[in-house]
Amino acid sequence: MIARLLQAARLLLAEERTAIIRKEKDKWVVRSPHNKSWCGGRYDTKEEAEKRLREVEGFKHRGGSFVSAGLADDLTSKMSDLLARPLDVVASKDVAAFLADRFSFQVARTPSGQKDLKKAVESLHWWLQHGVAQYRDNPEAARTSIEHAWGKVEPHLADLVRNFSAEGGRNVPKEIVVGANTYVNLVGFSEPQLRKYSDSLEKVFSELRGWRTRALTGGVRVVLAGPRDFRGTASGTYRSAEDALYVRATPKVLQRTAGTYGAFDYIIVHELGHRYQAVHRSMNVDFDRPEWLTSKYSHKDGEGFAELFALSNFGIHGYGSPETLERFEALMSGRDHQPKPELPEHLRHLKQL
Ligand SMILES: [Zn+2]
Repeated sequence: MIARLLQAARLLLAEERTAIIRKEKDKWVVRSPHNKSWCGGRYDTKEEAEKRLREVEGFKHRGGSFVSAGLADDLTSKMSDLLARPLDVVASKDVAAFLADRFSFQVARTPSGQKDLKKAVESLHWWLQHGVAQYRDNPEAARTSIEHAWGKVEPHLADLVRNFSAEGGRNVPKEIVVGANTYVNLVGFSEPQLRKYSDSLEKVFSELRGWRTRALTGGVRVVLAGPRDFRGTASGTYRSAEDALYVRATPKVLQRTAGTYGAFDYIIVHELGHRYQAVHRSMNVDFDRPEWLTSKYSHKDGEGFAELFALSNFGIHGYGSPETLERFEALMSGRDHQPKPELPEHLRHLKQL
């Protein structure tokens, strides 16, 4: 009776639901009512499928945008929950069970090119299942090894989902190209999900004013990455060595907060300021000098320009003197009209010969 009531409630709610359970041949399958090709996992028992359904629903209620991120996000949140607390034998074994349950890394066959990842997952699983228990008196002793193993798995979550899970049949693109920009998918997003994120970031890029659009020169490589790639709670960070803008793939990217100081858009534009500086190295002004200081943060070495770049982009006042921002704007927009620099002396010399 209860089952039937639940069934009825489920049907009623189906329109609003993220996922439903269907019996397909001998398996219980978690499906989307809206997207026929999406599969949240196949299970032998209805109980397992229901457990998974609750998880999928949980993501919806938690932020609304991780719905199709699915397994990769499940694992990420389980690992971060585990590592956020003192290590515990039972909790570790729970995550180990989840890992073994959802990912088929224990099978003999290794998908081509996935040998290292398989080993890394096996190692992570071993530490969770047995490693912590070995240090029963001091489970924390296993932390370094678990973090190390997770550090090898986490950057490859997309591959993990693609090659070692029932969701693998679903298309998890490595990257997508939008105009001149490339979005790299380290978090196992499905293509529609990846597009949502790229759309949102493209909107931030479109907020660049005037000469600042040159921060996009040659196309930006945006890497959508998990929390581990970030220090603290930063939303984004430009890595000049890779010429890549790393963005923390959380619903914050989709919710976007407009350009007040320190808001999401502000941070992305600030990071694009760093890219502008890296790409257009010809600037021979030291923006870390006192006459260019604005916000408190601009006092940090190497931050002067990025802060000027973002503050002036959004016309934010109250950080440094308005005169500094005007001077900055005049200097930077003037650069576009400056005559070409003279030939270097040695070349001029050659010309005269
Ligand atoms: Zn910065």
